[in-house]
Amino acid sequence: MSYQDDPNGYVGSFPKDFTYGPFEQNGDGDSSSLQDDHKPRILLRGLRRSGKSSIQKVVFHKMSPNETWFLESTNQMVKDDINNSSLVQFQIWDFPGQIDFLDPTFDSDTILGGCGALVFVIDAQDDYQDALDKLQLTVTKAYRVNSNIKSEVFIHKVDGLNDDYKMDSQGDIHHRATDDLAEAGLHHVHLSFHLTSIYDHSIFEAFSKVVQKLIPQWPTLENLLNILISNSGIEKAFLLDVVSRIYIATDSSPVDMQSYELGCDMMDVVMDISCIYGMVDETETNTFNNESSSLIKLNNGTVLYLREVNKFLALVCILREENFQKQGVIDYNFLCFRHAITQVFELRNKCQSSGTDRRRSGTPDAVPNGAADSTES
Ligand code: GDP
Repeated sequence: MSYQDDPNGYVGSFPKDFTYGPFEQNGDGDSSSLQDDHKPRILLRGLRRSGKSSIQKVVFHKMSPNETWFLESTNQMVKDDINNSSLVQFQIWDFPGQIDFLDPTFDSDTILGGCGALVFVIDAQDDYQDALDKLQLTVTKAYRVNSNIKSEVFIHKVDGLNDDYKMDSQGDIHHRATDDLAEAGLHHVHLSFHLTSIYDHSIFEAFSKVVQKLIPQWPTLENLLNILISNSGIEKAFLLDVVSRIYIATDSSPVDMQSYELGCDMMDVVMDISCIYGMVDETETNTFNNESSSLIKLNNGTVLYLREVNKFLALVCILREENFQKQGVIDYNFLCFRHAITQVFELRNKCQSSGTDRRRSGTPDAVPNGAADSTES
């Protein structure tokens, strides 16, 4: 289905207006301004044609990878609000490659000051020397303005490379980028590297890891998932953002790409079926609700089980068929898990609104961002 042309406004599995919106649980009518105050910012940088707009469109706007061939090159800054009602709240600022951080007209203090992560995209299919030079300038500037910023490097378009070349490029880019930073006196700055492509799930996985670093409640979520899986005979569980399919948390066992792909595919199936058969009347836009769940048995004895956590989050569990015999226990544990997640949200909202009130009245903010973790445990 076409992103631009569909007369019904459908984007892949989603009606166009099924997108990120304000958090409904606030119920105080002031949620959007409240969220804006707290929204961490992700800055997307890289040379022209490195793939920045494509990444943004594919991950957050459901564009199919082939449609990115027709994307116009960015000539102005694009600010994209990912205003999810759950824990995923941030803005992506996509800068055209030609805007220079060192340009005096560029208000780097304001832009970099409130920024949580800098994602630098390098086209691995091209000669990357210029990109590395720009990476060094960008990270140096960003770090000087905001020493808390997380620097992430996407070695992008790796779909065109064979495995050996991929690993060689990663090693080479890693080596040269860290050497460049050391030369600039920034050997203590940590760069994280991710091999990515819009043609597979690697871009979703990489973005998941970036977003997780910006969620202060992330350790609490991981803990809750650990408790859930160990008490339910589950092998792997992902807390998926319904709109983008990035996982905002998983249990602490290692992630293998195949399990994550299975989880994403299941999410797609549920959304497709819900949109086709779940609509009671034409005006209904959100067919993913607290009755949404799905069970898929694979022919290798694996069970995939999906449950709705809230309007924007789903839990996907992967387990052995024999461990699914006591489904009642799993369902009970899931309800406890959902209740705990709701409490995490409520606590976060309370912390945010008291922080906002304090700021409005001019009192310093005494509530740390990660308050949900400490109080929850
Ligand atoms: P921007 O100028 O950095 O925003 O770059 P665009 O997003 O416009 O992408 C430039 C070109 O790279 C487009 O033709 C995309 O289809 C292509 N592209 C983006 N991501 C990938 C990828 O992962 N693999 C491949 N092979 N091509 C990609």
